[in-house]
Amino acid sequence: MLRVTEIFRSIQGESTHAGRPCTFVRLTGCPMRCTWCDSEYTFTGGEYLTLDDVMNQVRAFACKLVEVTGGEPLAQREAHNLIESLCSEGFEVLVETGGFVSTADVDARARIILDVKCPASGEEARNHWPNLERLRADSDEVKFVITNFEDWKYALEIIRQYELDRRTKAILISPAWDALDLREIAEWVSASGLDIRMQLQLHKYIWGPEARGV
Ligand code: SF4
Repeated sequence: MLRVTEIFRSIQGESTHAGRPCTFVRLTGCPMRCTWCDSEYTFTGGEYLTLDDVMNQVRAFACKLVEVTGGEPLAQREAHNLIESLCSEGFEVLVETGGFVSTADVDARARIILDVKCPASGEEARNHWPNLERLRADSDEVKFVITNFEDWKYALEIIRQYELDRRTKAILISPAWDALDLREIAEWVSASGLDIRMQLQLHKYIWGPEARGV
């Protein structure tokens, strides 16, 4: 069984796939507690569904792109069976993970969007660093949520230390909602000399920061 908070169709909001039609499978539960978490409603509740139930709901939305997210999707072992089933059925699968659970067992056909937790998240110590060495340059993306200048400097250090520009399809610099002057972070990114990408949480600009299921 999978513990599921919501399954819905929307547009992808936070990666190089932003703007594409996408079905989201949001699994319940996360052992982390990032200070700026915007999905605390996934920490509790949810509904227990069989793999078949989830697959049927995903099929009904008829989107080529499917994102398995949370919470922390990889905290549920059954998530691996879901990802494998989706890939086998021909969906293009994104797995958005908070970065503290190993990605070693994720179906190789899925694309990983991996968070690196910066200091202001309060969860920096739980980054699972081997995940960075598994990233694939043709498919996987890494995301830093930035809340202040210290986070930005930290991101630069990790990008250089792990040579993420050669390991990933994209390095995403994502300002936490309402935490920074966007012009300031745009200046940091543009002046960095790095092949990185500033990204905004598209869905929040469309539906507002508190909206769910969109
Ligand atoms: S890992 Fe994601 S879901 Fe978990 S607390 Fe952090 S932001 Fe929230």
